[in-house]
Amino acid sequence: MNSDYSKIIENAYKLTKPLKDKGKLATYIPELANVNPEKFGVHLTKIDGTCFGLGDNLERFSIQSIAKVLSLTLAVKFLGEKIWTRIDVEPSGTKFDSLLLLETNNGIPRNPFVNSGAIVICDILISHLENAREEFLEFVRDISDIPNLTYSDKIADSEKATGYRNVALCNFIKSLGNIENEPEEVLDFYFDMCSLELNCKELSNAFSFLANGGKKLRDNKQIITTSQAKRINALMLTCGFYDESGEFAFEVGLPGKSGVGGGIVALYPNNFTIAVWSPRLNPNGNSFKGMKLLETVTTYSEMSIF
Ligand code: GLN
Repeated sequence: MNSDYSKIIENAYKLTKPLKDKGKLATYIPELANVNPEKFGVHLTKIDGTCFGLGDNLERFSIQSIAKVLSLTLAVKFLGEKIWTRIDVEPSGTKFDSLLLLETNNGIPRNPFVNSGAIVICDILISHLENAREEFLEFVRDISDIPNLTYSDKIADSEKATGYRNVALCNFIKSLGNIENEPEEVLDFYFDMCSLELNCKELSNAFSFLANGGKKLRDNKQIITTSQAKRINALMLTCGFYDESGEFAFEVGLPGKSGVGGGIVALYPNNFTIAVWSPRLNPNGNSFKGMKLLETVTTYSEMSIF
């Protein structure tokens, strides 16, 4: 490990930890309200395989929307460029669960990272796989090298019981002709996908193929092409934080993706992947301290893509 990287992370962690956290837990998924809001972890994995972590970096948490990047990766692997007839690649400028813009766009979601787009991706995977739930899990186990990785039934059931907005989104898109399967089946898979649990170390490792031209670090296995990795990184940069994507690019300057479990993963192509977890969210549904820590890391280190 380059000692500079560990010093930079250590320093950013120390500066960010005592900040007064104005954020709130994502209580709209009842099970997420039971998480200790003080949790704070960070882990950086370089593409030479060395890594460095601090705090609660080895405790698993609900990755929620971060999983949307992995389901998109699997769908791109199957469909290639055809996928972009079902989903657009533009920032939405709206909250992650917004119904706006769907009607005027004939049920084509603005991008794959807002809930509507991720729901269409789930529909695509169900149409192309024998058993999307199992095969997606196998795929994530393979890219992360974590054989015991699982969905959390507790989190998925909690969201299934209260996910009225996602039910509305899926039915609305179905009525506009952009969902092929039964909404109930699509939503079950969507909630399971969002319930995956990884820790910061596992997350930074799982995403490292996107910092490595589409290839896994451990064995150089090509997961997706370099050009497909470029497309996914571009989408993370422009759409990974919903209506705060501009702010994240402005403050942090890296492609990244957040989840309402308080996790954020970001990467610097050909260099490193970093994952951070702090459960309290700002009003846009992104981790308050997670964003602050990443901003400090890239400001002090000058390690941004800009
Ligand atoms: N499962 C969550 C939802 O659909 C994911 C949202 C998120 O992490 N931004 O509301």
